[in-house]
Amino acid sequence: MTLKLHNTLTGTKEAFEPIEPGQVGMYTCGPTVWNFAHIGNLRAFMFYDLLRRQLQASGYRITHVMNLTDIDDRILDQAMHAGTTIAEYVKPFVAAFFEDMSAMRAQPAEFYPRATDHIPEMVAMISTLLERGFAYVADGDVYFRIESFPRYGALSHLDRSGLRAGQRVATDKYDKESVSDFALWKNAQPGDEKLGAAWDAPFGRGRPGWHIECSAMSKRYLGDTFDIHCGGIDLMFPHHENEIAQSEAANGKPLARAWLHSEHLAEATGEKMSKSAGAFTTLRDLMAAGHDPLAVRFFLIANAHYRQRIRLSAEALHASAEQVRRLRDFAERVRTPSRDLAAVMPDDDALIGRVRQVRAAYRAALDDDLNLPQAVGVVFELIREANAALDEMKVGAPGRAALLGLLEEVDGHLDVMGGEEPGLADEVERLIAEREAARAAKDFARADRIREDLRERGIALEDSRDGVRWRRVPPA
Ligand code: AMP
Ligand code: ZN
Repeated sequence: MTLKLHNTLTGTKEAFEPIEPGQVGMYTCGPTVWNFAHIGNLRAFMFYDLLRRQLQASGYRITHVMNLTDIDDRILDQAMHAGTTIAEYVKPFVAAFFEDMSAMRAQPAEFYPRATDHIPEMVAMISTLLERGFAYVADGDVYFRIESFPRYGALSHLDRSGLRAGQRVATDKYDKESVSDFALWKNAQPGDEKLGAAWDAPFGRGRPGWHIECSAMSKRYLGDTFDIHCGGIDLMFPHHENEIAQSEAANGKPLARAWLHSEHLAEATGEKMSKSAGAFTTLRDLMAAGHDPLAVRFFLIANAHYRQRIRLSAEALHASAEQVRRLRDFAERVRTPSRDLAAVMPDDDALIGRVRQVRAAYRAALDDDLNLPQAVGVVFELIREANAALDEMKVGAPGRAALLGLLEEVDGHLDVMGGEEPGLADEVERLIAEREAARAAKDFARADRIREDLRERGIALEDSRDGVRWRRVPPA
């Protein structure tokens, strides 16, 4: 099977084939670090992570670039109100972004370039656009002339009849309805020097517009043409159209071969989650409410296909947490065989055949434009069957080995089974042992206190036949 991906440019699922065999170059639009990332942003980033993992599973080496937008109108605004520079202002949000990504086990990209570290590359590209007549200076700003680029709108299948030539927008906030010439460079305003947001350029001291950074940085790290460009669907127009126009006009070559866009995450009310609209939820908010970041990860990638809109709700997160728990419990059960079983059991051959079948279906679903929800559904069916076989003591060592092999492959995408956050599991296990010792010594007051302390931290203990188990719950 080959990997098929939905390409926004052609509107179809296409067999993926990289420019250079065995190697993939991929650019993904990253966070604007003016605030904490919200769960909608994280949905886009977890989609990038899923794509990355599937490319790896398909045998490719990857150069993944994710930019950090550390200069735009909102950042300038916020830094001015805080009385600091933009570089100082964004620091805690950059740190928070990396914390969130690691809490959700996103594999790190190869490069995280920042806009303000690549001003010379942007200035060079703008100079080329001016020389070639794709850009012009107006009121000290530099604009891209959309009229000069007839392919403008090809990605979003835009109706060019509504295009009003020469109309300009200078802000980083774009009207989704109208097509206008957009700013490549904005001349320095009086406050910009103090904010550390002004640079010299042949066309005047100032700062870059929002779109040019992605064109300049993708060229620097991946070359003029690369394999895959990703972003959330809201970036398709105008941001990605503008990237294509800038890069292709300056380089004379196509920018990216495949464009992948992930759908929105909405609030429980159905509204699109958006920071500027004021209503948004961060990973920190969810963790403070007792949610496991890995249940959030599962919810974002495995609950719905990446091209489906999803809604954030407590019920949906609890359902995801429950599925994660079932996966972990099952993995644990398969890993720890009962002592009274023979090494090989009569049903092992049939189980191994069934695992092979499920593995093929799992891979086929992922190869079909990353259909992880379908892939996981097939695995849960197998888990139900295997649990029944385990209850009946029909599974021996070969059957367990086959199951474990499959679970390892599944966790290559999900990454929710291999242990808890570092250090936590050990500490909880130590406290559980202490509680057992207290109970053995009939010190029930101490045993209860340990249980209550854990409960306050959002860990509930359950006494079961197989010993004490623990799970996350909202902190008491
Ligand atoms: P930003 O930090 O605004 O530059 O956005 C970072 C990424 O999050 C982009 O790929 C956006 O398309 C994506 N994004 C923004 N809002 C949402 C949302 N509500 N649901 C899904 N993705 C979003
Ligand atoms: Zn971008």
